[in-house]
Amino acid sequence: MSELNAESTAFRAALDVVRDVDPRIADAIAKELHDQRESLKLIASENYASPAVLLAMGNWLSDKYAEGTIGRRFYAGCQNVDTVESIAVEHAKALFDAPYAYVQPHSGIDANLVAYWAILADRVEVPYLKKFEKRQINDLTDAEWAELRAAFGNQRMLGMSLDAGGHLTHGFRPNISGKMFDQRSYGVDAATGQIDYAALRETAKEFKPAVIVGGYSAYPRKVNFATMREIADEVGATFMVDMAHFAGLVAGKVFTGDFNPIPHAHIVTTTTHKSLRGPRGGAVFAQPELADQVDRGCPMVLGGPLAHVMAAKAIAFAEARRPEFAGYAQRIVDNSQALATGLLNRGATLVSGGTDNHLVLVDVDKYGLTGRQAEQALLDSGIVTNRNSIPQDPNGAWYTSGIRVGTPALTSRGLGTAEMDQIADLMHTVLSSTKPGASKAKFDLDPAIADRVSKQANEMLGAFPLYPSVDLGI
Ligand SMILES: *Cc1c(COP(=O)(O)O)cnc(C)c1O
Repeated sequence: MSELNAESTAFRAALDVVRDVDPRIADAIAKELHDQRESLKLIASENYASPAVLLAMGNWLSDKYAEGTIGRRFYAGCQNVDTVESIAVEHAKALFDAPYAYVQPHSGIDANLVAYWAILADRVEVPYLKKFEKRQINDLTDAEWAELRAAFGNQRMLGMSLDAGGHLTHGFRPNISGKMFDQRSYGVDAATGQIDYAALRETAKEFKPAVIVGGYSAYPRKVNFATMREIADEVGATFMVDMAHFAGLVAGKVFTGDFNPIPHAHIVTTTTHKSLRGPRGGAVFAQPELADQVDRGCPMVLGGPLAHVMAAKAIAFAEARRPEFAGYAQRIVDNSQALATGLLNRGATLVSGGTDNHLVLVDVDKYGLTGRQAEQALLDSGIVTNRNSIPQDPNGAWYTSGIRVGTPALTSRGLGTAEMDQIADLMHTVLSSTKPGASKAKFDLDPAIADRVSKQANEMLGAFPLYPSVDLGI
């Protein structure tokens, strides 16, 4: 019998132990690996974390409460959490060359909430309003929210519009950030599809926001953070950057100088599970003057830190500090540009005409489709993407007119520029063969075409095994 390697042994043993309690959970976990292996994953926000990152999460660090900060906890016996959090912070600071890092946020949204409260607390005295004492926050009317905002001095936020690629947490109404702040958006130039910094400056001068938020979820270009900081300084705003999507490109030194947010922003937030390839979680980086406010994230807006996830963050940051991570980050962008070129060569229309980063936004209106139709037609053909608004989207935020594709996951898997051209061909085949149906969700696609593309996609993936070191033996 050949000896199993450490990864296979570890995951098999873990599943055996779980299977003992409820086999359905063990099966779902194993099936997820199987499904991921079969999936041509072009979802720009997803990735594959290393076995070391995954294994660092499954342990008794999860059992420990450690509210507070390193060395100043509200609970006793936090020495090992202190060790883990200190090492995660050490790696995070070194990786991003940041003076301060906070690794407790449980997700990207939590990181943003920590940052917003830190910025507010730094700028305004928090009032005590007896009137709201016994009220449920979700029951407040719009007028009452306006009263609360007034009590905070009507702080304003300028963030990227949703249809240009901004995120819900950048001041939009369905999110708490849209209730805390009076929000206005900046967008992109209609002709170039790129941020119009002169227009941004004009809006900032007129609106005088307390916070300017840079960063995005669906903008295919690099952003000049040095220019944005100048604008923030001109109007006395705090400059925050949410690098949730492109943190891996900053860590891998693809985005440097004016395009690296760390030296230019007062405060930077991120997720750790997107291009950074870590566990599901968030982090905040800040200039020293904001550090004390950020440290109040727990218990102000966060519960006890997830010490097991902080351990996995430490591993992911350590992995990203290795020289090969820079090569990975560069390949993400090379692949994204190869995908864009492949699509353009076949006649597709891309928002902004191309990409500087890990994602490409295809305008599927040019194929006569809604994003909803295109997303499902591609999925039926074995290509996993997601629909997304495009600037001035004629189909709104639900149906949309765009398809967002990203390369971090497939790059982790080892696919290169030749495969990207092949994927562009498969995507174009599906999109140009799909006919819109009776509603914005319905469409017609010859099942033989979907089937053929699906087989070709699978064949391509077969040459790039996912988690090649992990053999579950099933
Ligand atoms: C993904 C994302 C988030 C939210 O991250 P979660 O971990 O899902 O909470 C926040 N901001 C931006 C820009 C994102 O792309």
